[in-house]
Amino acid sequence: MRLSLLFLETLRDDPADARQPSHRLLIRAGYVRELGAGTHALLPLGIRVRRRVEQVIREELDRIGGQEVAMPVVQPAGAGQAGGRPEAGAPEPEPEPVRFRDRAGREMVLATSHEAPVVELIRGVVRSWRQLPVVLYQLQPAFRDDPRAHGGFLRVRESVVQDSYSCDRDDAGLERAWQRHIEAYRRIFERLGLRVIPAGADAGSTEGGEALEFLALGPHGDDVVVLCEACGHAADRRVARAGRPRVPPEEPLPVEEVPTPHAATIADLARLLGVGEDRTAKATFFVTGEGRLVTAIVRGDFEVSEAKLASAAGSTGGLRPAHAEEIRAAGMEPGYASPIGAHGTLVVVDELVARSANLVAGANREGYHLRNVNVGRDFVPDLVAEIAEVRAGDPCPRCGAPVTLRTGTVIATMVRLATGRAEVPGATYLGEDGERRPVVMAAYRAWLLRAVAAVVEEHHDAKGITWPREVAPFHAHLVAIGASRDPRVSETCERLHDAALRGGREVLYDDRDESPGVKFADAELLGMPTILTVSPRSLAQDAVEVTDRATGERTLVPLAEVEAGLAGG
Ligand SMILES: [Zn+2]
Repeated sequence: MRLSLLFLETLRDDPADARQPSHRLLIRAGYVRELGAGTHALLPLGIRVRRRVEQVIREELDRIGGQEVAMPVVQPAGAGQAGGRPEAGAPEPEPEPVRFRDRAGREMVLATSHEAPVVELIRGVVRSWRQLPVVLYQLQPAFRDDPRAHGGFLRVRESVVQDSYSCDRDDAGLERAWQRHIEAYRRIFERLGLRVIPAGADAGSTEGGEALEFLALGPHGDDVVVLCEACGHAADRRVARAGRPRVPPEEPLPVEEVPTPHAATIADLARLLGVGEDRTAKATFFVTGEGRLVTAIVRGDFEVSEAKLASAAGSTGGLRPAHAEEIRAAGMEPGYASPIGAHGTLVVVDELVARSANLVAGANREGYHLRNVNVGRDFVPDLVAEIAEVRAGDPCPRCGAPVTLRTGTVIATMVRLATGRAEVPGATYLGEDGERRPVVMAAYRAWLLRAVAAVVEEHHDAKGITWPREVAPFHAHLVAIGASRDPRVSETCERLHDAALRGGREVLYDDRDESPGVKFADAELLGMPTILTVSPRSLAQDAVEVTDRATGERTLVPLAEVEAGLAGG
């Protein structure tokens, strides 16, 4: 491919609003253009990268017996979530799909997953045990009106996703398919050059089910994983558990009201009263999607986990912070609040608070707190559950070693229902023994643009992108220097370009009439793994200068050798 013909414009400066390296570099190097609110266009270089990623995914899913299908983007409304089964990608809160009416007035949706058509296919095709197991997968654009979408390409509203669905005869088969997908994702991300860890995740509404997510680690992510370096245990912080502190037994003391003016934070309060933050009870307020006020109480040295709280409160519609008026309406005073004397709110207490005696809590009167508050004696919670977020240094639930917190981006998720509950509604097969049995199923999803952005986060330097070989849009970037001074430069480059075409090697040939500085800067920005430079100086030695983009290492390689290499020698 000749660079002079490529639909490409590289930018010298970073786009104003781009903070993450992947966002800056993919735009500056002409891989992606942003078009409007959360939408973007992939340019020819970007499409090449996406195809390379798709190829890796196809090879690895085919290797575990996957078969590719294509399903409609538009589906009848109500066809999704057949029987409350897991959606692909369910560990992420699934936004409402976009709805519209077709010409006949039927309500339709833009599919956020393709479980319903897969179920239809399985119902219609699978009759006998001989047809199982089967893994169907697809690579298709999906539109999610993601409330967390923001600038950059790690979280976008529209992207190609890979969805796969494993269908098996029984739970043992499902377990095999599950393990094979873990293996496939590990291989895919390894080939893409991503450092990824699998972590336990929120199985959402799939009660008793299991969810796993693959996170690309790095400072870019807004997902947090709790990781134990000692035993390898990892879990999404939203659902992670840890060993809880021991609390020495104590006799409950009488409640005592104390003035606490200007105690805006737990730290201020603890300092003012001369106690540790672990001797305080902190109240946080949310409203569920169903409109219910939830009062969450954790110990002052912990933060409340919204996901754990939502799950404990049985809220499927998400949580939002409560307004001051909503808190006051329930008889509590923001800043000085506790559930004592409150009404019309669901009180959820962290189990650590429930077994701690004599804590400091709000007096529901501005400027005052109460000492020696005891759960059960002074107020009765509606629920006691583990709702606190795991902190760095808390003990690993498996081995007890202190855990660390790492940020990253979820690139893939897997979700399945509990043993004995993973049946596909209405899909049955005739077993070997003549008995009719339900098909069991699990769903798997990977986000392609997220993966591409994560690769750039992991593989770049100050000059530009440094693509790993499996992902690079071209194998090599051929740069002609001094072609106007020496006709042999163009002749040689043309020959190398032809050789590459013959050998099936993809080479981007910079044949433009630009200065060496501009050409080198673009080659480094675009990031092909190998840069081949032909100049009068290299030709004087009958050689090509070969630069490894990632390491910067330069070597003079005999021309004949480079030509033979490109021609497939
Ligand atoms: Zn551990």
